[in-house]
Amino acid sequence: MLELPDGATGLDAARAIGPKLAEQAVLVRSNGRVQDLRLPLEDGQPIQILTTRDKDDPDALAVLRHSSSHLLAEAVRRLYPGVKIAIGPPIENGFYYDFDFPEPLREEDLPRIEAEIQRELDEGREWSREEVSAGEAKQRFLDEHEPYKVELVETAEGPISFYTQGDFTDLCRGPHLQDSRPIKALKLTGLAGAYWRGDSEKPQLTRIYGTAFYSKDDLDLHLERLEEAKRRDHRRLGPELDLFHFSERSPGSPLWHPKGMVLFQELDALRRRENAKRGYLEVRTPIIYDAQTFYTSGHFPKYEDLMFKLEVDEQPWAMKAMNCPGHMLLFASRLRSYRELPIRYAEPTPLHRNELTGTLHGLLRVRMITQDDAHIFCTEEQIQDEIAGVVDYARYLYELFGLKASAELSTRPDNKLGTDEQWDRNEAALEEALKLNEIEYTIAEGEGAFYGPKIDLHMEDALGRSWQMGTIQLDSQMPSRFGLTYMGPDNREHSLYVVHRALYGSFERFIGILIEHYGGAFPFWLAPVQLRVIPVGEHHREEARSLKERLGDYRVDLDDRDETVGRRIRDAELEKVPYVVVYGDKESEASLSVRKRGGEQATTSLDGLLAELATL
Ligand SMILES: [Zn+2]
Ligand SMILES: [Zn+2]
Repeated sequence: MLELPDGATGLDAARAIGPKLAEQAVLVRSNGRVQDLRLPLEDGQPIQILTTRDKDDPDALAVLRHSSSHLLAEAVRRLYPGVKIAIGPPIENGFYYDFDFPEPLREEDLPRIEAEIQRELDEGREWSREEVSAGEAKQRFLDEHEPYKVELVETAEGPISFYTQGDFTDLCRGPHLQDSRPIKALKLTGLAGAYWRGDSEKPQLTRIYGTAFYSKDDLDLHLERLEEAKRRDHRRLGPELDLFHFSERSPGSPLWHPKGMVLFQELDALRRRENAKRGYLEVRTPIIYDAQTFYTSGHFPKYEDLMFKLEVDEQPWAMKAMNCPGHMLLFASRLRSYRELPIRYAEPTPLHRNELTGTLHGLLRVRMITQDDAHIFCTEEQIQDEIAGVVDYARYLYELFGLKASAELSTRPDNKLGTDEQWDRNEAALEEALKLNEIEYTIAEGEGAFYGPKIDLHMEDALGRSWQMGTIQLDSQMPSRFGLTYMGPDNREHSLYVVHRALYGSFERFIGILIEHYGGAFPFWLAPVQLRVIPVGEHHREEARSLKERLGDYRVDLDDRDETVGRRIRDAELEKVPYVVVYGDKESEASLSVRKRGGEQATTSLDGLLAELATL
């Protein structure tokens, strides 16, 4: 327990503990909220003082980066007289500042600005904080001809504060570092256009992006990761590995090449195999329906804009953007008894979503989308087990791909259907399933679908990036909207629950993520070409061909182009083929020369090779 006088600040607390701590302190955190070191502490609250040693803490990084954005603004103001400054917050992995430049800025100008910031860092800057009245603040920015700051003051709520470093003062709530010494590495990373306040009616500003770290090594590691992510970008690797491409004639709908189709079908085979084990039934339902179907399901008018509409027999129809309505109609085809439940329908037919052109992003956001979709129809008593079964299934799948799973539980949104009592029960059921399966989760208040709470499954890939993948949604609304019931043991009709779930999420998105996760070097079972046979000379072609036949249980091809052996081996490496068999004078079925992806070479018999492949 620390005894401090009234009005003591975070910095006072740090000093009371020790001079070293006070010197290294960057931020105060109390009850999950962060606070500037210069502000008085609340009485009796536990506090944590973050220091330069918390170099990976997101809050500690944010205060470092936000302070860096002020250095950027100071530098730009000095270098470009007449520039107007707007805002400069920290963001994930860095910071930005928006400016209104008198002349357009180019990418080539960034090194000069970066050098100016470095000069500031070399000189050293200290931040001071003062609170001012709105009138004072407005007058200051009117005098400085900073219209964006004037507007910010006019719309500000709560007390207004200034932070000053060197001769630069910015309107800012903070928090900020004490001084610039902790900023050990800073880099400007790019330029973009951005509308003032994100409003396309307002002036377009120039956004300068940057990042900063507590150590040079951390910056280097970050830049290395960015490079690696660029190398692995599925939008680049997809066409390079001959997996898919996009056409301007149908933006957002991938054209799958034969090799990409192998990935698609292997994932589908896995889905079918596992579904069969877990009691799912494969079904197939229409792609187009009359508009009434979607009014009944509740997708119209809420999600009307997301759906492609068409006219059939002069009536409004639409293409399905989800499989649920079809599965509801299927379930409704006859009376159902409690003895049949749960019924688990699975279907991977293509869906269409009218995503805005600007939001399309390779395979990650597409218009033609294929979900590993399923709907589980169950009684209220079965909810717990069914959700737990789905969560278990998800964990099995993600582990298979070496992806670390976590979850986000989304609760009732503002536009919810149904009563609060239903939502209370359903949200609790999902949370219980996560606890039971020991999956780490966070709660996203108000992010649920309008018909029920949901679990969003996230996975961490080989580069440590987090992706949203599958969803599990509990729903009592849609079955009742379609009038679905079941006959209970009491011979009376009971209401029904549906679990909507997709575990890959969509095939498209999942494949996009797998391409980046593996950097195109897919595990053997998934690789579009598993083996390649390379005959050394023309007179080896015949034997190479018969070798290819013998390996026919696998996806094997033959590269008998008139290129050198070295060139053909290199091409196989670029295509990331797991096994390459070179066949020349010295080779026979008793002695094959095999090169594995990654460079390992071995001599083995055909039987030995087949035995090894069988273990994969
Ligand atoms: Zn600031
Ligand atoms: Zn559904």
